Amino acid sequence: MNIHEYQAKALLKGFGAPVAEGVAILSADEAAAAAKQLPGPLYVVKSQIHAGGRGKGKFKELGPDAKGGVRLAKSIDEVVAHAKDMLGNTLVTAQTGDAGKQVNRLYIEDGADISRELYCSLLVDRSVGRVAFVVSTEGGMDIEAVAHDTPEKIHTIAIDPATGVTADDLAKISAALALEGVAVEDAKSLFPVLYKAFNEKDMALLEINPLIVMTNGHLRVLDAKVSFDGNALFRHDDIRALRDETEEDSKEIEASKWDLAYVALDGNIGCMVNGAGLAMATMDIIKLYGKEPANFCDVGGGAGKEKVAAAFKIITADPKVEGILVNIFGGIMKCDVIAEGVIAAVKEVGLKVPLVVRLEGTNVDLGKKLLNESGLAITAADDLDDAAKKIVAAVKGA
Ligand code: GDP
Ligand code: MG
Repeated sequence: MNIHEYQAKALLKGFGAPVAEGVAILSADEAAAAAKQLPGPLYVVKSQIHAGGRGKGKFKELGPDAKGGVRLAKSIDEVVAHAKDMLGNTLVTAQTGDAGKQVNRLYIEDGADISRELYCSLLVDRSVGRVAFVVSTEGGMDIEAVAHDTPEKIHTIAIDPATGVTADDLAKISAALALEGVAVEDAKSLFPVLYKAFNEKDMALLEINPLIVMTNGHLRVLDAKVSFDGNALFRHDDIRALRDETEEDSKEIEASKWDLAYVALDGNIGCMVNGAGLAMATMDIIKLYGKEPANFCDVGGGAGKEKVAAAFKIITADPKVEGILVNIFGGIMKCDVIAEGVIAAVKEVGLKVPLVVRLEGTNVDLGKKLLNESGLAITAADDLDDAAKKIVAAVKGA
């Protein structure tokens, strides 16, 4: 689950990280009052969407010459003008895709005088099985490009969970970021605070791009992107309350209600599979035969008829889906239960695209019999290869 920048900053501030004062608003009428609460004379008006690259983004409605989604203002009037310009419009950034995202919230922030822009993130480094800081002097820009062009400028410092952030770790981070003077002192509290926030709130990613050195030498968190481990959300009521469903894929929200592992993708073959490994293999083989999956969907091992029907409905509700492949290995899950769920869902929502079903395992004969006798236009497949070929052929033919 992702949250907005202003929410992430409030959270980090609660742990003691240095962030600017700011006020979030939902309408341009609130802009002047929000800015008056800040010291000035420099303000920043920041679009709040769940995507980065806002500064360099473009508003669809405003044309190519208009300013982006993060704007500096030198007066309250200018803050108001920017707020009117941005709210309600669609911001397209390198991370939103061509459709862009509608800006419904702004964060009005006290502007900082920047000396250097640095990069800092925290993530779970699977190669060492630890939480690690990833830092670079090359902040404020696309970190993927830095990693690609100048990988030597990116430093990873993994933290031992038994000790937390040590003096040695801090020295490495400060050296990697070429920190000097008061910034070195600031770092001694900032990095342990970030590590604590990451662990206590079960974050999956905490990215500060940029972390800045201000002209007065101090560090400040200028941008913040946080995503949380969905599997741990049950124990963080405060984090769940930050959810902004308007920023999320409606299919993924519906899927989460049913506890389905569902991720929307760009292709047009809908997949319903049990088990993450089989789901990956199914996506791979669809690609192998020349098409792209519309989603990853793992109904899990113990799904009942209702859950299968819910998954099927979510997949068919996606207008991009031109064909569906159901690929189930019945182990704990029984093939007849899958068949019943698919039949119930098809009877309820109809079937407008080709459907190929491959069943194998427990009660497979009963499952196939139910499908055959259902009177529905379902193509049976013998194995994974056969199933992928059949659905790709059906979609290409359509
Ligand atoms: P992003 O484009 O979505 O990553 O949004 P950021 O919050 O990172 O802002 C983009 C850029 O705007 C930053 O890299 C800064 O160069 C600039 N910026 C943001 N806040 C301030 C500020 O308080 N003062 C100044 N001078 N520039 C800022
Ligand atoms: Mg940024």
